[in-house]
Amino acid sequence: MTLLTPNSPTAELQALDAAHHMHPFTHGQGLRDKGARVITRAEGVWLTDSEGNRILDAMAGLWCVNLGYGRRELADVAARQMMELPFYNTFFQTTHVPALNLAAKLAELAPGDLNHVFFASSGSEANDTNLRLVRTYWAEKGQPERQVIISRWNGYHGSSVGSGSLGGMKGMHAQGGLPIPGIAHIDQPDWWGEGGEMTPEEFGRARARQLEEKIREIGPEKAAAFIAEPVQGAGGVIVPPETYWPEIRRIVDEYGILLIADEVICGFGRTGNWFGSQTMDIRPDIMTIAKGLSSGYQPIGGSIVSDEIAAVINGTEFNHGYTYSGHPVASAVALENLRILEEEQIVETVRTRTAPYLKERFESLTAHPLVGEARIVGMMGSIALTPDKARRAPFAAEAGTAGLITRERCFANNLVMRHVGDRMIVSPPLVISQGEIDTLIERAWQSLDEAQAELAAQGLLTA
Ligand SMILES: *Cc1c(COP(=O)(O)O)cnc(C)c1O
Repeated sequence: MTLLTPNSPTAELQALDAAHHMHPFTHGQGLRDKGARVITRAEGVWLTDSEGNRILDAMAGLWCVNLGYGRRELADVAARQMMELPFYNTFFQTTHVPALNLAAKLAELAPGDLNHVFFASSGSEANDTNLRLVRTYWAEKGQPERQVIISRWNGYHGSSVGSGSLGGMKGMHAQGGLPIPGIAHIDQPDWWGEGGEMTPEEFGRARARQLEEKIREIGPEKAAAFIAEPVQGAGGVIVPPETYWPEIRRIVDEYGILLIADEVICGFGRTGNWFGSQTMDIRPDIMTIAKGLSSGYQPIGGSIVSDEIAAVINGTEFNHGYTYSGHPVASAVALENLRILEEEQIVETVRTRTAPYLKERFESLTAHPLVGEARIVGMMGSIALTPDKARRAPFAAEAGTAGLITRERCFANNLVMRHVGDRMIVSPPLVISQGEIDTLIERAWQSLDEAQAELAAQGLLTA
C-alpha cells in the first residue's frame, strides 16, 4: 500500500482512518459520519490541521503538553538516547542511567518523603501498580484484610481494568464488568452540580465525611487507601470547596489509611505548584504521575511512594512490572522536560503571572448569559453552562447537549475546548502567553454567543 502523508487530501485521510482506526472514547460510526479532524503539526500552543487551519489548543493535547509543542531539545534528547541505548529492561538485576536519574530527580521534586519511584508507561498503568502496591503493602504489614480502596464517583484514574475500577465513571463501569471487587465509591465534591441548598463550605465538609462513613461501613480494619485527584480533571475540572481537603486529611490520619493523590493532571505545574498536593495542602503516601511528566512527548508514568511504603515493599519481591517500566527514551525525555520546566522557571511563572491573568480573564466569562460559575486553579479551569444561573439549574435537554453544541462552536472557531457534560473545560499549555489567553477568551466568548443562539433556535434554552 502507499502510505498517506500530512499533505494528502483530507477526505482520503479521513476515509482511511475510518476504515481501520478505532478511536478511544468514541462512537465509531458517529465519527465516520462526521469525519475526524486531522492534526498535522503543532508549534507552541497552536495546532495545524490538514485543511491548514490554525487552532488554539486550550487543552494541551490531553492535559499533557505542558511545555507546548515543538521543543527541539526534547526531540534531540530522544534521538541521542535511541542511538545510545534505545531499550533495556530494569527487571533482572539491571538498570540504566536515564531511569535512575529520573527517579532521583522526581524524589528531589516530590514533597516530603516521597522518594521512590515505580515506573509505568501511562497513568492507567501507574494506578494499576498502586492498586497492587497498596494491597501488597498491607499484606506485608500483617494486615491482609485491608484490601478496600475508596475512590469517588466521577473521579478519573485511567481506563485499564484496575484503574477504570478505581475511577468513578459510570459509563465505563457499564461496559466490561467493572468495577472489580474491593473498591468502594463515595460522592464527589461538586458543589455547583450537587450542592443543593448547602453553602460550598458545608457541602465540602459533608462530602468529605462520606469518606468516614464509608470507612465505618466497610470496617476500618478493611480500609486500605483513599485515592483522589487533588482537583478532578476529566470529571469536568471540579474544584473542591476549601473545607474539603482539610476534612479528608483529618479522616485519613484518624483511620490510618493510605492516601493516593492522582497527580496525573495536577502534577508538574498545572496548578501553579509542582504538585497539586502542594496547592491543596495534602500529604499523600503515593502520587500517581504521567501526562505532564514528559509534556506528552513520550508515554511515561509512575508511582512516587514514601520511604515507609518503599521499605515495606522492598522487603519482598513485588511481582509486578511492565516491559517499558522506566523506558530509557521516555525517561530521558522526561528528564529533559523537567530540566526545561526548572531552568525556564515555568512553574513560578504560572503561579505568579500566567495563572492569575488567566483566572481574571476566565472568570470574566461569567458575564456571559450562558455561564454560571467559573472555577479555575492554576492552569485548569471550567465553566458551568446553565439556562438559569440563580438556581444553578441544569438544562431540560439531556445532560451534555449544550456542552456538545458549545464544543462544536469552539471547534468551528479554531479553539480546542472540551466539554464534560455541560461544563466547558480548559487546560492550556503552561507556556501560553497573555496575548494567547486573550485570543482564547475571545474565541470562547464568540463560541458561547453562537451556542446560545443555536440553543435558543432549537428551543433548548430552558431549565
Ligand atoms: C489521564 C489520567 C489518567 C490515565 O492516564 P493514561 O496515561 O491515559 O493512562 C489517570 N489519572 C488521571 C487523573 C488522569 O487525568
